[in-house]
Amino acid sequence: MTANSGRIAIAGAGIAGLTAAIAFAAHGRRVTVFERSTSLDELGAGIQLSPNATRILARLGVLPHLLPIAVRPEAIEIRRADTMRLIASVPLGDAAERRWAAPYLTVHRADLQSALLAVATQNPNIDIVTGASVTDADFEGQGVTLSVERDGQTGPVACDLAVGADGVWSTLRRLGRSKTGHYTGNLAWRAMIRTDDHAGIDLPPMDRVTTVVAKNFHLVAYPVRSGSALNLVAVTRGPDAPERWSTMGDRELLLAAMKGSSPDVLRLVDMAGQWTTWPIHQVAVDGPWTNAAGFALIGDAAHAMPPYAAQGAAMAIEDADTLATAIARWPGDTAAALIAFEKLRRRRIIKVSARGAFNKFAWHASGPVAMVRDRVLKSRGPEKLAADLDWLYGWDIETELGKL
Ligand SMILES: Cc1cc2nc3c(=O)[nH]c(=O)nc-3n(C[C@H](O)[C@H](O)[C@H](O)COP(=O)(O)OP(=O)(O)OC[C@H]3O[C@@H](n4cnc5c(N)ncnc54)[C@H](O)[C@@H]3O)c2cc1C
Repeated sequence: MTANSGRIAIAGAGIAGLTAAIAFAAHGRRVTVFERSTSLDELGAGIQLSPNATRILARLGVLPHLLPIAVRPEAIEIRRADTMRLIASVPLGDAAERRWAAPYLTVHRADLQSALLAVATQNPNIDIVTGASVTDADFEGQGVTLSVERDGQTGPVACDLAVGADGVWSTLRRLGRSKTGHYTGNLAWRAMIRTDDHAGIDLPPMDRVTTVVAKNFHLVAYPVRSGSALNLVAVTRGPDAPERWSTMGDRELLLAAMKGSSPDVLRLVDMAGQWTTWPIHQVAVDGPWTNAAGFALIGDAAHAMPPYAAQGAAMAIEDADTLATAIARWPGDTAAALIAFEKLRRRRIIKVSARGAFNKFAWHASGPVAMVRDRVLKSRGPEKLAADLDWLYGWDIETELGKL
């Protein structure tokens, strides 16, 4: 690969990197994705995909691969962990598709990865090189030269555009002198319950996303894999943890953090299989995310956010699509495309991060603040709560480009 060959190199074959590869290829560009791992297996956890993400996946041809195994929940419900009293409900299912013109889905991450790979590997414009770590980058002059290490050998890869989609602990973010991430002091706990193994036992309804909230934690439960499994994600305070994704979690610590919760909540934690913990790291949204030589950061590498709005992957998908669209919209002027990309994405990411911070404040409230929260949510009702999400779930690239 040489500079000025029109080639695009992407570091990382996660959600951001694979979506970007598919989006660039859809505009006729040749792309090579370098992935550090030797295999592209995803971890055993779920993910919520809101309509702003599924609309893009539909346009890129990924959705047909995902729909047969995804679940289309009927609602998001928020309940108090102590009493399980319903405090808010947002209609999804057909209502979501009517309102936001795309489905709200809950999926297993491995199924999303498989759907992205099915599309990427069929496309002759996309090469995926596994076991290949991007270790350095030279942004001088026109184009970028990456150093790629494979089988113990490091070689240069010159390209017109390099994309850092290498996740929360991004090497390319550090090389590009963007801010490093920091540990938020919160741990995410994840577990999966196979519904077959628990026939006859009360599980939360399998046709919705159930969020239970309390001062010290929240727990989200939703179905995945055509309803054959229930995915659980809890967030608690936690000790600092090293830079890695998954560690075995001690169920007793989780139960202690949930003290005072309804027996329904505690039973769910108890009946789940192995819990794993993830330290939640965050990357400041002020960047920079681009370099005029031909470089852009996308997804968690640019702006990893805590999962309170369930939007990290959706933002990675939006970033990928916006970048590919901007590069196509300004042919031969990568610098102008990158300025437009960064401007559009910063506005959006700041707003979405603020929504996540607000959710955290509301979900983990206690005492009088929690009482006010419950009253306000009740008074707004399902329709108004859905309307409050129009700016988030109704996002569309063409409307955004029109605002430039
Ligand atoms: C508990 C929890 C729940 C969440 N729930 C949701 C949700 O419901 N909805 C939602 O939208 N988001 C959710 N998210 C956020 C979402 O998981 C992330 O935002 C998303 O996975 C980021 O994707 P990515 O491709 O940017 O990064 P990653 O998925 O981390 O991918 C990065 C890839 O780069 C590779 N890589 C790393 N370094 C190098 C290198 N030097 N060279 C080459 N390759 C490299 C890695 O191996 C990896 O494959 C959640 C996050 C957490 C922690």
